[in-house]
Amino acid sequence: MVILFFHPNLYPPPPAMHSRHVLLVEDNSSVLRTLQRMLEEDGYTAVCAASKQEMQRILASEDGESLLACVLDYCLPDAPEGEALVELLKRRIPTIVLTARNDLATREQVLLQPVVDYIPKENPAAYEYTLRMLRRIEHNPGTRVLVVDDSSAIRGYLSQLLQRQLYEVIEAANGEAALAQLGSDPGIRLVLTDHDMPGMNGVRLCSEIRRFRSQEELAIIGISSSQDSSMSARFIKAGADDFLTKPFNHEEFFCRVTRNIEYVENLQALSRAAHEDLLTGLPNRRSFFERVQKQPFPHALAMLDIDNFKQINDNYGHDIGDQALRWLGSLLAETFGREQVARLGGEEFVILLPLDTSPQPLLEAFRQQVGSAVQATSRGELQLTISIGAATGQMEVSQLLKQADEQLYQAKLAGRNRVSVS
Ligand code: GH3
Ligand code: MG
Ligand code: MG
Repeated sequence: MVILFFHPNLYPPPPAMHSRHVLLVEDNSSVLRTLQRMLEEDGYTAVCAASKQEMQRILASEDGESLLACVLDYCLPDAPEGEALVELLKRRIPTIVLTARNDLATREQVLLQPVVDYIPKENPAAYEYTLRMLRRIEHNPGTRVLVVDDSSAIRGYLSQLLQRQLYEVIEAANGEAALAQLGSDPGIRLVLTDHDMPGMNGVRLCSEIRRFRSQEELAIIGISSSQDSSMSARFIKAGADDFLTKPFNHEEFFCRVTRNIEYVENLQALSRAAHEDLLTGLPNRRSFFERVQKQPFPHALAMLDIDNFKQINDNYGHDIGDQALRWLGSLLAETFGREQVARLGGEEFVILLPLDTSPQPLLEAFRQQVGSAVQATSRGELQLTISIGAATGQMEVSQLLKQADEQLYQAKLAGRNRVSVS
């Protein structure tokens, strides 16, 4: 039986945008120092208090206004029974409870409150876990989780647990509604699904989801109260990443959600690193050609190269050269669409052109736009020009690129700052 215990008015609001200030409340000075050092190494600003009284003074001051979260020692000399927690929850500050008291009663007592998590100070790994939770609180607003269950009470229960950790939660009452939600929202990163539902069951839902969403894009956790010991295997074979048996305890729930979200995020970071150019954020050469080669023959491609870029680096410095590359990258994405352009390397870019208009006027307009823009830099104003070579015709992309490169060479030869189309 799942215990339903809501504090609808106590759930924390999203933290102040971009705040990395964390309130540390801990009376053991060596623990406090360790935590402070770890937080600061990660770029957080630690605001420290050793008692409830000090905590209240901070909360009443300017420092208390824009806190990302609080890491709270449950037992303080002037608040031995968790009285400080009551204060923090009243102020709707996302709170991670760190405690040396590891008895079952305290654990249950704390976890019934809408805390972010409960971390026993059993060993040094507790501090590392605390940092992981802080990172989650920072990144969870905007991380979307879909909860699928035919029982509105259970959907509500799971949603409230997730909202403690500031996830953005979407609910669906059945498999069909879940598929519709996922179809229209590629940003959902985790699905929690029940098995026993009228219509499509959870295992079937997993296999349907996997037809259009890979494990790199989305994690699935199956949930069931079934006594059938094969249920977890059925879920995982259908494409789920993990499984929870009802009833579960809150800590296990949070651990599994965190681990699965981190897994998807890590895979996405790897994929971004493999497909994106680090400096400009544009698709890199590899991802551009992978995508273009899957399409029917492209008919128009342009290559663009900054004129005398070496001189720009020499005169303004490499950093400003980088700034100019980023600026040009975003102008290209804005003008032609991010998926139509890529950085080939150095100061060379490629553009896949629309087929319904002649490329010359578009490219000419872009060349003029770049040439007339003045960028403010720390070394004064910067203007740059570009040369563009383009090729059109029914041929393989590699052939088209070769021809565009020849045209680019012609444009450079003819004096730069011009467009040449074959
Ligand atoms: P041209 O008009 O003939 O294209 O002359 P250019 O100076 O632009 O061409 P060249 O190929 O001689 O020099 C390209 C320069 O681009 C040399 C290299 O240092 C610089 N470059 C390549 N990648 C980067 C980068 O990521 N950042 C910066 N700042 N410079 C880069
Ligand atoms: Mg150049
Ligand atoms: Mg070059």
